[in-house]
Amino acid sequence: MYTPLVSRLNDLLLTDDRKQRLRIMRSLMAANVFIACCFLQVYAWWVGYMDLEDVKRLCGVIVVNIVVWYVVLRSGVNQRFDDPAMTLPQILSALTIIVGAYSVTGPVHGSTMMLLALVLVFGIFNMKQKGAIIAGGYTVALMGLAILIKVRTDPVNYPFKLEIAHFVLTAAIVPTISGLAAQLSSLRAKLQDQKDELANALVRIQILATRDELTGLVNRRHMMEVLTQHRKRLERSGHHRFCLALLDIDHFKRINDTHGHAVGDEVLRNFSKVVQSALRDTDVLARWGGEEFLVLLNDTSPELANVGLERARMLLAEATLSTTVPELKPTFSAGLTAYSTNEPLDVCIERADRALYKAKDSGRNRTVIRMGLTPDGSPPLNHPTAPSALQE
Ligand code: GH3
Ligand code: MG
Ligand code: MG
Repeated sequence: MYTPLVSRLNDLLLTDDRKQRLRIMRSLMAANVFIACCFLQVYAWWVGYMDLEDVKRLCGVIVVNIVVWYVVLRSGVNQRFDDPAMTLPQILSALTIIVGAYSVTGPVHGSTMMLLALVLVFGIFNMKQKGAIIAGGYTVALMGLAILIKVRTDPVNYPFKLEIAHFVLTAAIVPTISGLAAQLSSLRAKLQDQKDELANALVRIQILATRDELTGLVNRRHMMEVLTQHRKRLERSGHHRFCLALLDIDHFKRINDTHGHAVGDEVLRNFSKVVQSALRDTDVLARWGGEEFLVLLNDTSPELANVGLERARMLLAEATLSTTVPELKPTFSAGLTAYSTNEPLDVCIERADRALYKAKDSGRNRTVIRMGLTPDGSPPLNHPTAPSALQE
């Protein structure tokens, strides 16, 4: 009960969006430092280093700053900006408050300088090069202005000789941190570019490894993986109904010889598209070799699978497979078989291949259905055949 409650509370306070949550957490981490500063101010007032009014004012500004940034981030308003982390505005507001603190903390003002560096370090993780330079320049300028004013208005707590040292320190340390942040930013940008390039290369490699270049169909190697996975899944579910069909374009060599290889390629591409369109979404058509295709017909009987192949025949007769030679109407022969429980895949493919040979032998442009043995080793029951299908 405890965990869901905490997780629901987290979702409520920090959102369930991973990126937004990270942004809010980072802002709240900075808020922790500010809260610690508030306690220090109370201590400074208690020992007589600060006025109560200044403590109230400064703590008020700090609380408002924390609440405003929390509301901006939690409401999602930040996502409308180029940098949704809003690093630069958050850092500029924090730096302003710290310089304000420097001006009202009297004898202990030197300790607030450390916070300037801390705030800039927060920016190192997220700021762009330009932002880092702006934050650095802003800090030095604002500190210079605050020191100038305080040296004139409160020379007891802000003696000129000490303030010169403070300013030199600020002018030396702040630009160094900004410079580091800028360098890290360009390094991050380079790493991001490399990451994008690698991701694109991976997608290209995956396509090359699994797809046939000419037709865009699943290639032979990947088809073996698809079939192996399919078989494993079916074994687990105990539901073994699928068919395999080997298709081979009839007299394809003639197309190449008569019209050239380019027309042959065009026919192969369009043949793939037409056959694919005749099959169901759950079926997988693969280029098995030259002008041979293997089809996985999922969750179906050979008779119903043959209906799909007949649909492909019909569509092919109507389609234009070559724009240069529109009268080309190639046909195909097919060997169709049903997968028998627990048999190795190559045995099933071999059976489809033998049926294809038979289809070629019987005059082409037809499907031969060849059944495997039933699990108990007995011959299969006869199935009624669909038009143009020859049952062995
Ligand atoms: P059958 O009816 O007996 O199948 O005769 P066929 O001419 O189709 O069979 P054969 O196996 O003799 O010829 C297949 C041809 O397919 C030979 C080969 O040059 C051609 N081929 C294989 N791959 C490609 C390819 O990617 N592009 C082209 N244009 N032709 C190819
Ligand atoms: Mg052929
Ligand atoms: Mg062939």
